[in-house]
Amino acid sequence: MAARIVPVEPFDFIVLGGTGDLARRKLLPALYHRMRDAQIPDDARIIAAARSSLTRKAYQTQAMEALKEFVPDFDKDIAARFVKCIDYVRVDAESGDGFSELKKKVEKDPRPIRAVYLAVGPSFFAPISEQLKKAGVLTSKTRLVVEKPIGHDLESAKELNARLAKVIAERNIYRIDHYLGKETVQNLMALRFGNALFEPLWNRYHIDHVQITVAESVGVEGRGGYYDKSGALRDMVQNHILQLICLTAMEPPSHFDPNAVREEKLKVLRSLEPLRNGSLGDVVIRGQYRGGKAESGYLEDAALEESSTETFVAMKVEVANWRWSGTPFYLRTGKKLRARMSEIAVVFKDTPHSIFDEDAGSVRQNVLAMRLQPDEGITLSMNIKDPGPGGMRLTSAPLDMTFAESLGRDDLRLPDAYERLVMDVIRGDQTLFMSGDEVEAAWTWVDPIIETWAANTDAPHPYDAGGSGPEEALALMHRDGRRWRDIE
Ligand code: NAD
Repeated sequence: MAARIVPVEPFDFIVLGGTGDLARRKLLPALYHRMRDAQIPDDARIIAAARSSLTRKAYQTQAMEALKEFVPDFDKDIAARFVKCIDYVRVDAESGDGFSELKKKVEKDPRPIRAVYLAVGPSFFAPISEQLKKAGVLTSKTRLVVEKPIGHDLESAKELNARLAKVIAERNIYRIDHYLGKETVQNLMALRFGNALFEPLWNRYHIDHVQITVAESVGVEGRGGYYDKSGALRDMVQNHILQLICLTAMEPPSHFDPNAVREEKLKVLRSLEPLRNGSLGDVVIRGQYRGGKAESGYLEDAALEESSTETFVAMKVEVANWRWSGTPFYLRTGKKLRARMSEIAVVFKDTPHSIFDEDAGSVRQNVLAMRLQPDEGITLSMNIKDPGPGGMRLTSAPLDMTFAESLGRDDLRLPDAYERLVMDVIRGDQTLFMSGDEVEAAWTWVDPIIETWAANTDAPHPYDAGGSGPEEALALMHRDGRRWRDIE
């Protein structure tokens, strides 16, 4: 069975920040793959714009280099066809230079669809959008893609949303969270709402707790300046992890369409029990990695004398509504942990009673584990009889729903999240993008935690680079008679 590919209409895809890391590492490879799979027509145009003075030819050479570096199955003929679609314009967001040139380029033989991707630092989101509007590049039909971070607190997020609202309608703003483009994350929705099996169990009566882990094995090398102003709560929890909670906890939307899905996600964000002041100490743990013999610590990696920025957060969160009341959601994310691993694990309650005697072994809780990276896939751990003549012995075995094997497609390459999301922009489908209201609701919940930390002189708990996070994070679970899943 071959993957179904529906070609899109010709488009103009303008990448502001075309020489940057995101464009080189993610956007150009994503578009290349979509062209390789014949989803993008040859008369599509990619117009890169950035501050460097480059000719079209020189940028095409840079794009070719980026593809060689970041496309594992690079094919030079396809790449040569791909770079022919690329043009380049020099723009400067501060002086406004180059935007009229950009307008001339897009207006000359415009394609039916126009999208603008802001792959620039967050301080440029509003000024560049305003320059684009002034120059006439943003029309009432242009789609504008905005990267994270959307603000660094509620006030700044509101201000950015308000400035964007002055130049473009909300229905044309695509606030990207690349976690939502992952195959497994969308499969979570297919699994929940496309099967009769799970939904009756998806509530406080049958689910013991949910664990969400986003663990990175790398530190902050080279990004210390940015990271120290952000920290794990702003960098990971406010956006990616809260979005994962939303998709896990939301009510079934009436339709799989942008408004219905985003409305349900928003209700989850608004149901999160506020965490502030006195309630924080036990249920929100912040940590910072320290070095060891072989590993450098955060201060060294970020070239700082001292810092109270958290590189790790673990927390117990309550979704305070009828479906989830009393079922904790445990979240953790951190840098320089034992392995790179992101997953959502839904842990079901114990069976009410075991009919098996002790020799059979214990009946373990069923766990539905949705793994986002690496090795995307979904497993449901089940208790089964250990095969063979040894009498009734129980063993836990995973029902593996790893996509390529179950679909009989051994050669299936799961598309990178950016491939899907960029194509969704071209198709005009906002389902997997965050609304302005969602971003503001997320900050409304996160801000009091940041404020409590700011008023508190306690340092983050140290943890060893290459470990599983601070002891206090383990204790957070132990106190409730539960344990974190291994980071592996
Ligand atoms: P970068 O610093 O590598 O690139 C910035 C780009 O902006 C360059 O092309 C530069 O020429 C352009 N630029 C800078 N100042 C300009 C000006 N005055 N006028 C016009 N252009 C200007 O940054 P990046 O890592 O590509 O990140 C871009 C955005 O994407 C950021 O908001 C970042 O948080 C977000 N992001 C990046 C990644 C990633 O993998 N790099 C992942 C997720 C989100």
